[in-house]
Amino acid sequence: MSDVRAKPLPTADDVSAPFWEAARERRLMIQRCAACGYYNHPPRSWCDACLAQDLKFEPVSGHGKIYSFTVMHQRDVPGFEQEAPFINLVVELNEQPLLLMVSNLPVSERERVRIGAAVTVDFENRGDAVVPQFRVV
Ligand SMILES: [Zn+2]
Repeated sequence: MSDVRAKPLPTADDVSAPFWEAARERRLMIQRCAACGYYNHPPRSWCDACLAQDLKFEPVSGHGKIYSFTVMHQRDVPGFEQEAPFINLVVELNEQPLLLMVSNLPVSERERVRIGAAVTVDFENRGDAVVPQFRVV
């Protein structure tokens, strides 16, 4: 039997900490620019649209669609040995065109993956951390 390791845990920094704290409360929060209203993800120090540095985390719907995906057949990705083939997703959140978020799809959902499929956020417990994932709706 293979050595099954734990899935990797997120490493929060000062900029991304509010995102991960919200995930622990099973809420999806995305940075939004106070100057122009543009959503920025992943978390950063300045707005991609206007370069303002007044970015606040706001709750979002958690709804989106599958923008792209990759089927991972490798069985040597730590923590995912027993789940291969598994799906890495890029989700476009409904709040803004090209507001993209990388995630993965639970194994039970892999037969339903399609470009453009509607998804909703779900959360995976990983020890002390909680990681946003998506399910097909
Ligand atoms: Zn802005």
